[in-house]
Amino acid sequence: MSAMGRTKKVGSAGRFGARYGSTIRLRVKRIEEAMRAPHRCPRCRTRGRIKRISVGIWTCTKCGLTFAGGAYVPRSSMMK
Ligand SMILES: [Zn+2]
Repeated sequence: MSAMGRTKKVGSAGRFGARYGSTIRLRVKRIEEAMRAPHRCPRCRTRGRIKRISVGIWTCTKCGLTFAGGAYVPRSSMMK
């Protein structure tokens, strides 16, 4: 299902643009804000040392902790 959700359709689906557009725009805005914010290591609590090494995989360059997280931010806490 997630693979299907990636498809971007413009045209015949345009009449839904306003409704979906605002939701997606809000979500993108929140993701971008979360991405820009300094991430904090769940172990040593250091901020700004979290690096994304792969989609959903993050590592702390200070203590070396590697952990799974969200695709765009280390934690999915922004979902609440
Ligand atoms: Zn750390």
